[in-house]
Amino acid sequence: VGDNPLTLSVVCPAYNEEEVLPLFHRELDAVLAGLPPRYRVEVVYVDDGSRDGTLGVLRSLAAADARVRYLSFSRNFGHQAALTAGLEAARGELVVSLDSDLQHPPTLIPALLEQWQAGYDVVITIRDAAPGPVRLEHRLSRWFYRFMAWLSDTEVRPAAADFRLMSRPALDALLRMREYHRFLRGMVGWLGFPASEVHYTPAPRGAGRPKYDLRRKLRLALDGLVSFSKVPLRLPVPAGLVAGAFGLLTCLYALLPGRPAGAFHLGSLYLLGGAVLCALGVLGEYLGRIYDEVRARPCYVVKESSDTNAGGQARGFRAPAA
Ligand code: UDP
Ligand code: MG
Repeated sequence: VGDNPLTLSVVCPAYNEEEVLPLFHRELDAVLAGLPPRYRVEVVYVDDGSRDGTLGVLRSLAAADARVRYLSFSRNFGHQAALTAGLEAARGELVVSLDSDLQHPPTLIPALLEQWQAGYDVVITIRDAAPGPVRLEHRLSRWFYRFMAWLSDTEVRPAAADFRLMSRPALDALLRMREYHRFLRGMVGWLGFPASEVHYTPAPRGAGRPKYDLRRKLRLALDGLVSFSKVPLRLPVPAGLVAGAFGLLTCLYALLPGRPAGAFHLGSLYLLGGAVLCALGVLGEYLGRIYDEVRARPCYVVKESSDTNAGGQARGFRAPAA
């Protein structure tokens, strides 16, 4: 890593955050001012269809600070969509995404950059438990990630937030994933770049109210599960085999002399049910493959090659979408 100038893009989604945005920007600005001079900075705010004065705040931030850019959605498309838009708009060689409510402390940015300089393309942040009793929400989230680790090949670190740093190669690879239902923390893990971790304690919100209610969080969890596991589609097969085996044994038992006639009926019912479940599992297997094809993830990601300089350009099989 030399001393030539580098552009760092900071991407911040904001939904109805008019109260906290000025505070956030002030704090971010203080952190950015302390970075070594080789970092040129741009801040990309994404207004996710806010209904309060968020857009007005962003306009005046951009007018007062040449480093600020913003996008504003026509309506609320959700946090993951807002993050994606910001990452697409980012022009930097490095990009850091964080929430604009001060729960992700901007003061952590220098630590993220340090890890990048140590050679990591991806630096994720892990939220340590805040002091005091563990909140139900955090416990649910931990269970969810454990469940997900069990169901899926892609590991998502528990308590990993969408507060992370990515190098340009990792970002380009991520943006090649065009799926509609986006679970970014899983997608970044799927890319497989060596990742480092930085721990932080979440701060209370700077101002305003949380926008992520339980319903949205459950929807995100469902997106994560469905996008990263085929286990639910395959589940009918073992269930069908168990039911079928039970049915077969019952039928055989019923054929012995002197057994009640009802036993045979019961057995054939289970046998048929088992066969139907297995057929559903077969359909699920095809459905899963169609899902893979439609989602069109790249079928590989290159981390480095002799054709590019070290730290290489990540290239997938499919051309990036325009
Ligand atoms: N956010 C967004 N679109 C939404 C919901 C949230 O862009 O539909 C933003 C929000 O402005 C904040 C971040 O996503 O910067 C996280 O939201 P929130 O603080 O409500 O979630 P929590 O911290 O409770 O997970
Ligand atoms: Mg928050």
